[in-house]
Amino acid sequence: MHILITGGAGFIGSHLAEHHLGKGHSVVVIDDLSTGSVGNLSAFNQGRCVFNKCDLLTWEGLDEEVKLADRIYHMAAVVGMFRVLEQPIEVTRVNVLGTERLLESVARAKTLPEVLIASSSSVYGHSHEKELREGIELVFAPEKAGLTGYALSKLTNEIQAMAYRKVHGIPVSIPRLFNAVGPRQSGNYGFVLPRFIKQALSGVPLTVYGDGTQTRSFCDVRDTVRALDMLAGHPKAWGEPVNVGNPREISILDLAKLVIEHSGSRSTIEFVPFEKGYGESFWQITQRRPVVEKLQQITTFKHAWTLEMTIDDLLERNRSNIVPEGRLL
Ligand code: UDP
Repeated sequence: MHILITGGAGFIGSHLAEHHLGKGHSVVVIDDLSTGSVGNLSAFNQGRCVFNKCDLLTWEGLDEEVKLADRIYHMAAVVGMFRVLEQPIEVTRVNVLGTERLLESVARAKTLPEVLIASSSSVYGHSHEKELREGIELVFAPEKAGLTGYALSKLTNEIQAMAYRKVHGIPVSIPRLFNAVGPRQSGNYGFVLPRFIKQALSGVPLTVYGDGTQTRSFCDVRDTVRALDMLAGHPKAWGEPVNVGNPREISILDLAKLVIEHSGSRSTIEFVPFEKGYGESFWQITQRRPVVEKLQQITTFKHAWTLEMTIDDLLERNRSNIVPEGRLL
């Protein structure tokens, strides 16, 4: 199989590349390196992997590569809460126009490769439902700063994917990704677990935003990419959003305690007001738990990683990267 991954030098994209290379496939990665890094790809054997640094919005080689691909994973997007808040125009420009350009190219190619358009749990917006399942009505509050621009860009990606499925018959899957975690995730753009791991290993306080009662459901990225692989190739998944995540829900305060416990760190916990972390008028999502029945009905997917296993694995991998006296490499 020949795989094209947009945003393939990013966190999830690089795991997709590793996963498919491990299955003996050939992989082409395109990435503008805005948040991804070449180092993410050098972390594993890159035989049969070609990397192109380019902007998806302008890259002239796109049509050629699309024609050669059996499957395309579209992961390129502006991600990470810090970046989303700092660059609100880029969010819609890259996320919406990039997806449009890719789907147009696929429609022109007429070779009908399988396409996966990455959506996000953020499309559930400010829903007060305790469990998030695909069919529920979505609630947005555009006047509340933070997530809405990103959430609507991802919802637009879903609508684009459905439209191209309807009009051009593209076999497109649309996973809603819930908080993937694992090796190569960077804390620089806000993601919580790599930040807690580094803070714990450096012996500095773990910065919990708000009172820490907000919850998330974390899914190991190696589980995430297996689920994506299964969905992308499954006709029953084409044309509809499907939750991809781990239904185990944990508060951010309990996550901080778990990291401290597993690391044996003497770090304390510091509560930081949301405004300090994200700026004024930030609106936090208080709860997030996926229902994954649809994923399990369509595929044979089962989780292989618990949160504790992921934390232990990250601690092990990061221990060698931390220099004494609490400085981060
Ligand atoms: N968070 C935190 N400390 C940090 C970074 C994030 O307490 O240093 C919190 C953040 O406010 C949110 C949760 O951790 O409640 C998950 O944040 P992340 O950015 O990883 O994911 P998202 O909010 O997009 O689900």
